[in-house]
Amino acid sequence: MTATATTKIANPRDIAQNVMTLINELNLQPTPQVYHVFYSYLTDEVPELSQLIKVLIRNTQELDEETVFRIYHKYLGSNALQQKIDQGVEGLQAAVERVEEAVHSVIRDTEIFCDEIDTASNRLTEDGISPEDVHCVTQNLSKATHTARNRYGDFNSNLGEYHQEVRRVRSELELVRRDALTDTLTGIANRKNFDTSLRDAVTSTMETGVELSLLMIDIDHFKAFNDNFGHRTGDGVLKAVARVLVNSTKGADTVARYGGEEFAIILPDTSLENAKKLADKLRNNVSMQQIINKKTGKSFGKLTVSIGLTSYRLGENILEFVDRADNALYEAKQGGRNTCMSQ
Ligand code: GH3
Ligand code: MG
Ligand code: MG
Repeated sequence: MTATATTKIANPRDIAQNVMTLINELNLQPTPQVYHVFYSYLTDEVPELSQLIKVLIRNTQELDEETVFRIYHKYLGSNALQQKIDQGVEGLQAAVERVEEAVHSVIRDTEIFCDEIDTASNRLTEDGISPEDVHCVTQNLSKATHTARNRYGDFNSNLGEYHQEVRRVRSELELVRRDALTDTLTGIANRKNFDTSLRDAVTSTMETGVELSLLMIDIDHFKAFNDNFGHRTGDGVLKAVARVLVNSTKGADTVARYGGEEFAIILPDTSLENAKKLADKLRNNVSMQQIINKKTGKSFGKLTVSIGLTSYRLGENILEFVDRADNALYEAKQGGRNTCMSQ
């Protein structure tokens, strides 16, 4: 490897060249994200990222596009998100300024038009006005009306553009918002989303007294999966489990990736009894999954989860609630895995 994060490279041109060399050496596509990750690595912009890449570079097998993509989202993604938000806000500001200008110009034009009407009406009420003058005044009035109509038309189309811009920015911001709350690998709620949703659910339960349950789900012996079949297969398993959990729950429930190979499900309006039934159904549905190697057609083996569950006790804080579900999960692991435990 010719370039490492510890090499001091001052000139941006040299950095760019070294980034490209490195990307080529690793057989990666120079997409903006890939470029950004290795630029950041060579400039030591984010020490954790540099350290991780340094370790991964020792084993080129591990440094595929998907891994780099994940690194990008983990260490640099929030900047990208911030940029999108900034761009959205700038776009809106520009649109608002354009509308303000258009409104001012319409007010100005309206004043001019009113003056022209006043002048015309004064002229027309003058004694002894000749037919030629009447003709001239009405012609001027007609011209002024024509100009005003054109300007109002411009204003209207400006307004149309403005509405389009607002709609564009709004849908872009909605995507950004969704991105910020979604786990990139599995497409379900991420940890941040889980934390917010749980806080909301607990608040709502405190207000209404309606039951609230929580499941913590951990894949059994997942490390062995990764070790035996590689991270890519491991990722596929994570996606498959997420799919089963989503497909086995209803709309009001929040299915989230809590971290690594651990998932959590918030169950509003659900008693401990019903949460137990659901947990068992989920455990069963996961264990019926067949994870097949596309190349060989063979199964990767048994896939099971352990589940800990509990219900919210009025007045306790969120940490106590989550800890109890976690302890129940620990018990399920101790109890031999592929099982559900409640506390
Ligand atoms: P247990 O039954 O006790 O839960 O054993 P385990 O092997 O599932 O648990 P352990 O905590 O020992 O290992 C979890 C593994 O999950 C280790 C880590 O490399 C892997 N992991 C965490 N996040 C990801 C990910 O995003 N993708 C992949 N492929 N693996 C991940
Ligand atoms: Mg596990
Ligand atoms: Mg775990």
